[in-house]
Amino acid sequence: MTDKPSRPSVEEAEAAVRTLIRWAGDDPDREGLLETPARVTRSYRELFHGYEEDPREYLKRTFEEVHGYDELVVLSNIPVVSFCEHHMLPFQGRAHVGYLPSNRVVGISKLARVVGGFARRLQIQEKLTAEIAGAIQDILQPRGVGVVIRSEHSCMTMRGVNTPGTWLTTSTLLGAVRDDSRTRHEFLELAR
Ligand SMILES: [Zn+2]
Repeated sequence: MTDKPSRPSVEEAEAAVRTLIRWAGDDPDREGLLETPARVTRSYRELFHGYEEDPREYLKRTFEEVHGYDELVVLSNIPVVSFCEHHMLPFQGRAHVGYLPSNRVVGISKLARVVGGFARRLQIQEKLTAEIAGAIQDILQPRGVGVVIRSEHSCMTMRGVNTPGTWLTTSTLLGAVRDDSRTRHEFLELAR
């Protein structure tokens, strides 16, 4: 990946967490919170592992022996954990990813890895949806791609308008999945 901003030191990151604890109204020096800055800093490496990856790489190993298979391939209910870039609060839900192969397919677990690689960053769901679809289109060059994501945004459910139970659905449809009504209908049925 290019143009990564430089990372602060662990000490700087832990100091920032201590500041936020004080900002919340608590005392970072009380016993229960002493190890918290270190834990939060470590867990950020896992929560934001997408910055360590180029998800497009997962799509580069493909299989060409498909025995003439030319129908939709859809992986549904892929868990999505991402973080809204406006509030740094999680949004969680499910992604449904499909494509109409031309002459090669990718290992199905790779579709889930692509979702994870783009999701584990500061994101907005609209961009996440488009990035997943765009990567599949660019690298696999299938006849069509569909991505639907449905998720619950904690910045809306636990603060702000406080509306638990609301779901945001976004979709990017490309090529035949967008333009061919039978394929589009079939994908959207499988992606519900
Ligand atoms: Zn938000």
